[in-house]
Amino acid sequence: MPDEVVDDAAEAGLPLEAPAEPTLEILRHSAAHLMASAVVELFPGAHYDVGPPITDGFFYNFRLPEGRHFTEDDLGRIEERMKQKAAQRIAFTREVMPRDQAREMFTRMGQPFKVDIIDRIPGDAAQVGVYRTGDFVDLCRGPHVPDTGWLGAVKLLRVAGVYWRGDERNEQLQRVYGTAWFSDEELQAYLDRLAEAERRDHRKLGRELDLFSVTDELGGGLVLWHPNGGLMRGLIEDHWRAAHRSGGYDLVYSPHIALRTLWETSGHVDFYAENMYAPMVIDERPFQLKPMNCPFHILIYKGHTRSYRDLPLRYSELGTVYRYERSGVLHGLLRVRGFTQDDAHLFCRPDQIEEEIGRVVDFSIEMFRTFGFSDLKMYVSTKPEKSVGSEEQWRSAEAALENQLRIRGLDYSINPGDGAFYGPKIDVGLLDALGREWQCATIQFDFNEPERFGLEFVAEDGSRQRPVMVHRALLGSLERFFGILVEHYAGDFPLWLCPVQCEVVVVQDNVPEVVQHAHGVAGRLRAAGLRAAVSDRPGERMQARILRAEQRRVPYVVVVGRKDVERGDDVVRVRDTRLPAEQAVRDLPVAELVAELAAEAARRGAEAVPPARA
Ligand SMILES: [Zn+2]
Ligand SMILES: [Zn+2]
Repeated sequence: MPDEVVDDAAEAGLPLEAPAEPTLEILRHSAAHLMASAVVELFPGAHYDVGPPITDGFFYNFRLPEGRHFTEDDLGRIEERMKQKAAQRIAFTREVMPRDQAREMFTRMGQPFKVDIIDRIPGDAAQVGVYRTGDFVDLCRGPHVPDTGWLGAVKLLRVAGVYWRGDERNEQLQRVYGTAWFSDEELQAYLDRLAEAERRDHRKLGRELDLFSVTDELGGGLVLWHPNGGLMRGLIEDHWRAAHRSGGYDLVYSPHIALRTLWETSGHVDFYAENMYAPMVIDERPFQLKPMNCPFHILIYKGHTRSYRDLPLRYSELGTVYRYERSGVLHGLLRVRGFTQDDAHLFCRPDQIEEEIGRVVDFSIEMFRTFGFSDLKMYVSTKPEKSVGSEEQWRSAEAALENQLRIRGLDYSINPGDGAFYGPKIDVGLLDALGREWQCATIQFDFNEPERFGLEFVAEDGSRQRPVMVHRALLGSLERFFGILVEHYAGDFPLWLCPVQCEVVVVQDNVPEVVQHAHGVAGRLRAAGLRAAVSDRPGERMQARILRAEQRRVPYVVVVGRKDVERGDDVVRVRDTRLPAEQAVRDLPVAELVAELAAEAARRGAEAVPPARA
């Protein structure tokens, strides 16, 4: 459902029939009306713009008199008024009136946004629908719930500044977001989920665990990976590279800029210009910051004459690309302007393509499982209205995609007409710990680029044939996948991904033997390939050291004191910071500790999922 830009003219028109049972969408659209009616009463002279249902709720855009802004307090008052009105069970009644009459009515009411919408209704529709709830009237097709009595379980969530009609050249309006449910229980469950999502917010955890930063000083949508995040990213990349090498991929590298003519050949200058940055001139020739890696891999392919025996060729790259995104949609690591795709391009003979698709599907499932995601959703997107390639090419490509999912017994849905203009695709979404779905992998046919770049291979009979090309990314982008990973694990990562796996805390930092013993324990952990740190900053209390390690989500803390040195039996006290206090502490010989941690760090996927932090 639309969140950012709303086709407001679609709201207007003849009323729609209400289904027998209102849906959540209808309930929320009705709640938006109720909110607007409360705002107009509490803030005389307020202008209301559009108010659709969205995923999990609704919003309405307003302009308050004299540039006034909604406060936290105002939201409480509006919500209170909505509840009063809900208790009154005011009917939603629909009315059809001539367009001119509606225009005149909203002009008289001093509602310029509504007048504007009526003027923008396409065609020569003679009549429009309006809905009344008590004194409030809105231009609307509906449908709505029968009366406001349905709208008791509502909650207003926040206010955001938005540009009128989503265009930054227009004035800013205030958008009030709310949510509505059929029952108080459902509402409360949703608010709990929301609080849990907030607790897991990767921007918050990114700061707390010192993983990355995205700052204004740096420029919006650009990411700095701090040492902890950088280390984790390196581990993800190491796994990715190893899996690609053993999966028969070649790993390649390409530059960040290239002659713009390359992007003219590829068609990006024509079809992708709004996402590309302005060219820079070098030696009087325009160069382009890369929005995609594809043309580079194509040039590598073209570097030699390819025979049918060479195919398939699989070029993979962790390729950093730059794409323009509106500043209003940038969001932590999830929507950025510079990011690294885990990209690959497959070049194969037509008779190889189906098997190749199957391999990529398996590969993506395996990749997600490694990181602890086993709940996946598959989608096949088919031919859109505007497309290149023959009907026959599309039909066989779509069949190949579906067939490979089917023979694996994988459930999938079809997104009719949702393919790119240059070919059909499979998208893979993953479900995180909160049940939220994230689109990550995409496996995309391309009938366009091989044509544009004149790609060929020499067939068995000596003739020149065109290879089939597939673009694919598994994790999507490292930035976005990392953000998802942080939220999925709420910062408590599987041991193999933890920046520090074990912290050795010194009790008496002024006793050299104790400090030395602590470094000895850490050294033995490191010798086994584990990441261990020693906490012996002078003048800090032991409790403070343990607390800091817990706050940084270090899973294991070993405490070393004078008694350990005196005892001399090589046993240490280990705390698993994720477990409740009564189960957390054990005394273990160092050799056993090393073996246990090494075994845990070797685990991947479901076996590596850490215990939920108590
Ligand atoms: Zn409406
Ligand atoms: Zn590509």
